[in-house]
Amino acid sequence: QDSGKYKGVIEGCCCDYESVDSVNGEVLHPLLQELVKTPFFRYFKVKLWCDCPFWPDDGMCRLRDCSVCECPENEFPEPLKKPFLHGLPADDVACQEGRPQAAVDRTLDSGAFKGWIETDNPWTNDDETDNDGMTYVNLLLNPERYTGYVGPSARRIWDAVYSENCPKYPSGEMCQEKKVLYKLISGIHSSISIHIAADYLLDESTNKWGQNPELMYDRVLRYPDRVRNLYFTFLFVLRAVTKAADYLEQAEYDTGNHTEDLKTESLVRQLFHNPKLQAACPLPFDEAKLWQGQSGPELKQQIQKQFRNISALMDCVGCEKCRLWGKLQVLGLGTALKILFSVDGQNQLSESLQLQRNEVIALVNLLSRLSESIKYVCEQGPSIEKTMERH
Ligand code: FAD
Repeated sequence: QDSGKYKGVIEGCCCDYESVDSVNGEVLHPLLQELVKTPFFRYFKVKLWCDCPFWPDDGMCRLRDCSVCECPENEFPEPLKKPFLHGLPADDVACQEGRPQAAVDRTLDSGAFKGWIETDNPWTNDDETDNDGMTYVNLLLNPERYTGYVGPSARRIWDAVYSENCPKYPSGEMCQEKKVLYKLISGIHSSISIHIAADYLLDESTNKWGQNPELMYDRVLRYPDRVRNLYFTFLFVLRAVTKAADYLEQAEYDTGNHTEDLKTESLVRQLFHNPKLQAACPLPFDEAKLWQGQSGPELKQQIQKQFRNISALMDCVGCEKCRLWGKLQVLGLGTALKILFSVDGQNQLSESLQLQRNEVIALVNLLSRLSESIKYVCEQGPSIEKTMERH
C-alpha cells in the first residue's frame, strides 16, 4: 500500500504513516468491519430529539436520507424487538417509508442493556444515565453518508465548534493539550467529509449513489493538515482502546445469541490484543505527556468543559442522521478521553474506571469509522490527488 506523500512519524504520536496504513489495511479494518456488525455493537442508544441549547431549531433536511426513519411497532419485525436473541440480517426490515436504510426501535428498553453499569460520561453534555427519550438505533440500517445537509445550518455548527471551543492555534502559541482538542475535532471532521464523499448521491433523478472523488479532494485531500489530523485522531482512539484492552476483554458481551456472542468475544480479543498491531505500533499515542504541568488539573477541567460544549452542539445539528453520527462520534471521543485520563500515579489504567455499554459501542464504532477513512485515504488518495492536480 502506498501512503502517498504522508511519510514518517505522525506528529504527536509514536508511529509512522506507513505502519498505520499497513496494520490498518491488513488487520484493524477487516476486524472492525466484522465487529460493528455484531448484535452487541450495532445498536446504539441515543437521545435524538433534544432542543438546541444555543439557538432555535433550524432543521435543514433537504433529502429524505437526512432523517432516521421510525418504524411503527406493528411494522417492526418481532425478532428485532429482542435484537440480542436473533441475528437478523439488516435487509429484512421493512420500514415505514419503504426504505430499509433507516430504523429506530422505540420498543427496546433499558433492559436490553443489562449487565452493564449506568454511569455518566463527564466529557459529554448528555446525561447517559437518563433513559427518558432514549431510542435504540440499528447503525447498520443508518449508514453515515451524504444527506444533503449543507449551507448555513451545517456551517454554523462547525464554526461554533471551531471558534468557540478550539480555535485553530497560532503556531507555538497554544499549549499541547489545546492542540490535541483541535486536532481531534478536525480529524473527526475529515472523517465525516470522507464518508460523505465515499457514499454520495451522484444523480438525484435516478437515485444513483457512488463515490465523489472531487469532493474528497476539495474537503480533505488538498489540505495535508486535515489528513494528518485524521491519522492523529485514529491513533488517539486506538491508544484508548488498547489501554483499556484488559477491561474490554473481560466485559460482558452477552446478547442472548450464543453463536454471535462467541464471535464478538473472539473479535474483541483479536482486535484489542493484536500481535501485529503491537509490532507495528506499540504505543499509538503517549498520553503520559499531557496534563503534566502544575496547571494540569485545572487545564483538564477547562478542556473537559469545552468538550462538553461541543457535545451540546450536537443537539443543534439540523439533520437527524448527521446528529446520530455526530453524537456517536462525540461520545466515542469522550470515552477515549475518559479512558486516557483515568490513570493512577504510574499512568496505568485506574482500577476505578467504569464504562457504560453505550460508551464502548460508541468507542468501537468511532474507531471503525476512522479506520475506514484511513483506508480510503491510503488506497485512493494518491490517485485522486494526481487526477485533481492535473486539472
Ligand atoms: P464543512 O465540512 O461544513 O466545513 C466548514 C469549514 O470548516 C470549512 O470551510 C473549513 O474552513 C473548515 N474545515 C473543514 N474540514 C475541516 C477539517 N477537517 N479540519 C479543520 N477545519 C475544517 N453531512 C452529510 O451529508 N452527512 C453526514 O453524515 C453529516 N454529518 C454531520 C455531522 C455533524 C456533527 C455536522 C456539524 C455536519 C454534518 N454534515 C453531514 C454536514 C457536513 O459536515 C458539511 O457541513 C456539509 O456537507 C457542508 O460542507 P462545506 O463544504 O460547507 O464544509
